[in-house]
Amino acid sequence: MQLPSFNCVCCNLNQEESLIHMFLQCNFAQNCWTTIGLQTDSQNPFVAFGQFKLQLHVTFYLEIIILMCWCIWMQRNDFIFRGIQPSSANCHQHFKKEFDLVILRAKNRHKESVSMARQLCVILLIFS
Ligand SMILES: [Zn+2]
Repeated sequence: MQLPSFNCVCCNLNQEESLIHMFLQCNFAQNCWTTIGLQTDSQNPFVAFGQFKLQLHVTFYLEIIILMCWCIWMQRNDFIFRGIQPSSANCHQHFKKEFDLVILRAKNRHKESVSMARQLCVILLIFS
């Protein structure tokens, strides 16, 4: 199988698709993070995810980060394999659907923490 290009399909920056580009540097990814109120100025994933953690102030921050990475990845795959144009709005919709499922699967002790007011603010932001 010969691929026509290794460049990112979610932006027009002609950047080779790398994990750091796809999930942090890409304008598309940054727009997707913004839909749930998260921003970073770091190209270092450890620093960026640390910033996300501080912005989220919730115990389940890692689930949110992983879920958004998954949704960005699926937008990319939908374009490559199904020809669907990547959209931060579609990514946000996908994120909300998946987040609903995460909440349903959450253990009771986590459901209690989700109900805390501070964490509720995050959920309201995600579902706005
Ligand atoms: Zn890109």
